Amino acid sequence: MKLILATKNRHKVEEFQRILSPLGWQLLPQDAVCPELKIEETGATFAENARLKALGIYRATGLPAIADDSGLCVDALGGAPGVYSARYAGEQHDSAANNAKLLQAMQNIPQEQRTARFVCSICVVFSPQDIVTCEDCCEGTIAHRLHGENGFGYDPLFMVGEKSFAELSGSQKDAISHRGRALQALYALLRDRKKI
Ligand code: IMP
Repeated sequence: MKLILATKNRHKVEEFQRILSPLGWQLLPQDAVCPELKIEETGATFAENARLKALGIYRATGLPAIADDSGLCVDALGGAPGVYSARYAGEQHDSAANNAKLLQAMQNIPQEQRTARFVCSICVVFSPQDIVTCEDCCEGTIAHRLHGENGFGYDPLFMVGEKSFAELSGSQKDAISHRGRALQALYALLRDRKKI
């Protein structure tokens, strides 16, 4: 199956390819097909934004498209940064600034109240009448300092057990991450619908 992947985030491209290529899926990054296209993420939920992105690519190219919208929801912050995860510290999409702002916001929060989850919503548009969506999450806690060098975004602050996402290898992260879990759910859905 050939799909346009609606993201300009090279880390996400790598994660999608790592998980979906072994299934025989061919993913063309958005930049390879319509690099000028910019889709505003104006939705109030991850699901709405994923749909906006996948439909935007489909309408621009006429080709099947897959998009995810994902982010970190921290209980002690009322679910923030949520759909604003990429631009928590401002429009410049700077992970170091986002992580610094999160550490600051969590400064006085005790360990038992540092629960959080990464959420990933995925939308595949085969045509406007044929849209498949799914969502999953990964539960964890917010660390008191950065841990590890791997991954991207909030990975160094997101602990699952004793390790942060940034201390895991790619395949270890895929096995438990919100994106890995949502993609496994998507695979099952598409198999049920005889798409694969
Ligand atoms: P999106 O590209 O609009 O979906 O923004 C997602 C943002 O959420 C990213 O820029 C990161 O800040 C954060 N995020 C999503 N998934 C992950 C992940 O797997 N690790 C770390 N941060 C993530």
